[in-house]
Formats: sequence, C-alpha cells, structure tokens
Amino acid sequence: MFPILSRKVKGKDLVYFDNAATAQKPQQVIDALTSYYTGYNANIHRGLHTLADEATAAFEATRQAVCAFIGAAYPEEIIFTKGTTESINLVAQSWGSAFLKEGDEIIISSLEHHANIVPWQMIAETKGAKLRVIPIDDNGVLDMQAYKNMLNSKTKMVAVVHVSNALGVINPVEEIIHLAHAQGAHVLIDGAQSSVHLDIDVQSLDCEFFVFSGHKVYGPTGTGILYGKKSLLEAMPPYQGGGEMIKEVTFEKTTYNELPFKFEAGTPNIADFIALKSAIDFIKDTGKDSIRAHENMLLGYATEKLRAFKDVRIIGDVFEKVSVISFVVEGVHPQDLAILLDNQGIAVRTGHHCAQPLMQRLCIVGTTRISFAAYNTIQEIDAFMEALKKSLNMLR
Ligand code: PLP
Repeated sequence: MFPILSRKVKGKDLVYFDNAATAQKPQQVIDALTSYYTGYNANIHRGLHTLADEATAAFEATRQAVCAFIGAAYPEEIIFTKGTTESINLVAQSWGSAFLKEGDEIIISSLEHHANIVPWQMIAETKGAKLRVIPIDDNGVLDMQAYKNMLNSKTKMVAVVHVSNALGVINPVEEIIHLAHAQGAHVLIDGAQSSVHLDIDVQSLDCEFFVFSGHKVYGPTGTGILYGKKSLLEAMPPYQGGGEMIKEVTFEKTTYNELPFKFEAGTPNIADFIALKSAIDFIKDTGKDSIRAHENMLLGYATEKLRAFKDVRIIGDVFEKVSVISFVVEGVHPQDLAILLDNQGIAVRTGHHCAQPLMQRLCIVGTTRISFAAYNTIQEIDAFMEALKKSLNMLR
C-alpha cells in the first residue's frame, strides 16, 4: 500500500520514523497523480473542453473533501495554498494589513514552529503591533494562567499550535479559543501536526482560521489548506494579484473574484491537489479512530522501552500527546545519533525542529524525534531500540 516502505536503506529494511516531518504516500495518492498527467492534464476553471472540465471537477472535489475532513460549513471557506507556512503568511499579511493597528497585540506560544512565529513578527513590525508569548513548563505544557493574564482588549489575534511538532504535546485549543473570544480576539490554529492524528471540527472549535499541510496527511507536498470563517475571508484583501483572483481588470481598476478564488492567484498545484483527495480518502477509509488507536499503542510501547534506557530523557512526557517522542541523551549530540541510526536503515529527525525559541526555553541544542504513522509497527520499534542501543554503545 505504501510502496516506499519496501525499499532498503544502507542494505537494511527502511524504518521510517520521521512522519512528523512528512508522511509517506499510499499507492492511491501516487496513482491519482499519474492518472491526472496521463489522462486529463489541463488547466482548470474557465476551460471549455473536456479535459479542463474533468480537471476542474477533480480539483474542486478535493475542496469538498477537505471541507468535510475538517467540518467546515462551506467549501469556499477552504483556500488552497502551498502549505501551512503559506497559509499563515496569507493570514498575517492579508488580515494583518487590514485589521492590525499600532499597539495591538498578537499572542503566540513558546511551542510554535518558526512558521507561526516569523510571519507574525513581520506584520507586527510593519504595523507597530506587539508579539506576546505564552510560557510553558519544562514538559512543554502551556501556562494557562499566564495566558489568561496576557489577554486584554488590545489582543487582536491568538495564533497557537494545536499539537507541538517538536514534542507532540496537545494544547487545550478549545479553552484557548474560548478565552480569546471572550476578549474579542481572533484565533488561528496551526493544525500541521494535529490534522493527521486528531478529529478536527472547525465549526465546533469555532476558530477563525485553521491551517495545515497536505504532505503531513499522506498527501503530496506543495498542498496547503487555509480554512477561514467566510465573513472574515470576505472582509480580507487579496494576498497576491494575478489571474483567477479577479472578476474584472481594467488599467484603472480591478474587482476581485469571490471566495475561494480571491485568494488563489495563478495556476494552482492542480495535480497535487487532485491527489490530496486520495490521501483524505485513505484516512477516511482506514478510520481516524483506528489509526489513532494504533499510533497510541505504538506510542505507549516505545515510550516504555525508551524509559528503560538510562541517560535518555523524554521531553514532553505528558499524557495529552500524539505519537511523537522527542528525547535527549546525556552526553550525546542528536546529529551523531541520527547518522548512526541512518546507517542501520532508520530515519529519525534531529535538531531544533524549526522551533529554536522552544529549544532555548528548554536549554537544549535539540532533540532526537521519532514519530509514528498508520503504517508503523511494533517490529520497527524493536528494530529501532536495538539500533539505539548499538549506537549509544558506539558513542560512549
Ligand atoms: N507548523 C507546524 C506545527 C509544523 O510541524 C510544520 C512543519 O513541520 C509547519 C508549521 C510548517 O509546515 P510546512 O513546512 O508544510 O509549511
């Protein structure tokens, strides 16, 4: 089902534990890409021929599928972007340029990926707004009291990660959203890590924006989602200008297209978005609940095995987390460990995980992170533990 998983790395069976960075793709996603290019490659919308009609229908079917996947009310609330990063930049630039004023405040958390820090810093600098950061404890748990104290009438946006990519910790987003709304602030949830593991219902969450990347939900790279509440998206100016996002252009004045096209200038990533629907179908058909149960079983098994290693310290060792384990080993640099593991066919991620401020807060240079997906197995965890033992013996 996942063809890449049968390959060898350095002569060993591949063990792929870097799923939080990107997930492998099921055959049906690869097939969808091929059948678009071999069967109905054409530019979408406005075409008056069969191929264009077929491509448009397949592309828009993905929008419907994403809408259902995250429980949005209307398909036009789903904007296609390059990825989580572009989705956040779109909101920061478009919403921020229209609605932020000098002295306004934006709240983020200490757990954020750089993609949910830098775009806010950029717009805050342009607008003279202030960025505030919710602190965490040593396990990566948000200090909710500090958050409550931080909220005030100047707070205009709260942009927080749903699940930390570096630690796997799940944030209490329902409460975060509720508290923000009580102060009249909008909320953006970075769902890059949560969308693949947790059930998402943006209507019951009631967040203004929810963003994620297709490549982390078993879909192609170059596909990103921005969900936004319709009334807000309608009030926001376009992010980029060009074809598709216009209604009428003259040299004197341009009127803009309706949602979602207002935010989709230029030819989009047609093939990859068409294939994203196959990825969502894979998750739906397998069942998010059964995937989560399987991943939780792997998480529990691996956590217990890792705890038996002396000198290994799990960071973010909390109950509310997804199948991500980040750890440090006393006296061992994560990069050295990754190279030795790779020599044994095991792919892990090491370093700061694009969360340098978090690493600074935790007083570490980085971690070794293993993360599990639907296709991982207990046997792979056993192989990993053996390889870890061997590697640590070599490094000492
Ligand atoms: N936010 C989080 C929590 C992530 O884990 C990632 C990617 O790892 C991103 C944002 C950025 O996603 P992308 O690189 O797909 O735009």
